[in-house]
Amino acid sequence: MKLTDIYKKKSNILSFEIFPPKADGELNNIEPTLEILSQLEPDYISVTFGAGGSSNNNKTIALAKMIKEKYHIEPVVHLTCLCYDKKEISEFAKEIAAEGIENVLALRGDRNPNVPEKNDFRYASELITFLKENTSFCVAGACYPEDHPESESHVSEMLNLKKKVDAGADILLSQLFFDNENYYSFVEDARIAGIEVPITPGIMPVINEKQIRRMVNTCGAKLSDKFERILKNYGERPEALYEAGMIHALSQVVDLLANNVDGIHLYTMNNPNVARRICDGIKPIIGR
Ligand code: FAD
Repeated sequence: MKLTDIYKKKSNILSFEIFPPKADGELNNIEPTLEILSQLEPDYISVTFGAGGSSNNNKTIALAKMIKEKYHIEPVVHLTCLCYDKKEISEFAKEIAAEGIENVLALRGDRNPNVPEKNDFRYASELITFLKENTSFCVAGACYPEDHPESESHVSEMLNLKKKVDAGADILLSQLFFDNENYYSFVEDARIAGIEVPITPGIMPVINEKQIRRMVNTCGAKLSDKFERILKNYGERPEALYEAGMIHALSQVVDLLANNVDGIHLYTMNNPNVARRICDGIKPIIGR
């Protein structure tokens, strides 16, 4: 089913992001994770894709296929374009379509000095145009409530996001954030800019200080003062940080749901217990 149909038919949409196992890992290593995630009844699961130079990208499609065929959950394949040309993207698209997968998250991908960029796609919007002209995928795009790290200004970010939607993005999935007010104000600006598609907030429950500090350095998310205090007080005590990180994420999700947002997308980091904990917390709210 296409994401557009899911968003039309349902409220309280719940989705997860996972990544394929590393190149030397076996795909079936992730099955125990999928077993648990599937019991949480997500509306879709998205699978990340390397920014280029990775032999792992075929695993993205294989994993999406497994999610669809074995667990009967709608998969979304992430697809990056900066390091691929049109022929390569067409090959990936053919492979995705051949598996009956209907949804793609079209991304530019991060720049990597070790992987040469190609000239066919400079921005995600160009990939979206290409996919809309050459495939029948439902196409999602990424957005950044606290602006993309390469952003010139908040206004230029918003204008570029509008280009992405005008190119055909049906849905936007957000980068993680820790302050819901920044998400609400971003959505308000997007609506003023004429962006009408669903904007689904992305939430990452943080249970590891090193990992989150590395991530915010590259992804454009800000550590809120509230979250910095959590890291300062509990960062050295893994059990305390786990609890505090979970409670923080859960309170973000509850507040977002109370504001009738366009679904919740959980960055699971392939940790099904984290997803289960959040889902247990919101069970009475979303009724599953
Ligand atoms: P774009 O939309 O192209 O934007 C990149 C920058 O270019 C922005 O600053 C934008 O304002 C600017 N820009 C856009 N259009 C124009 C224009 N026409 N003129 C001038 N400037 C412009 N990365 C991966 O490698 N694999 C993944 O699986 C993956 N999954 C992700 C999932 C989500 C939900 C999100 C939010 C991010 C994900 N990323 C992933 C990270 C993403 O690839 C990076 O953030 C990347 O740097 C930007 O990708 P984009 O698609 O947002 O790029």
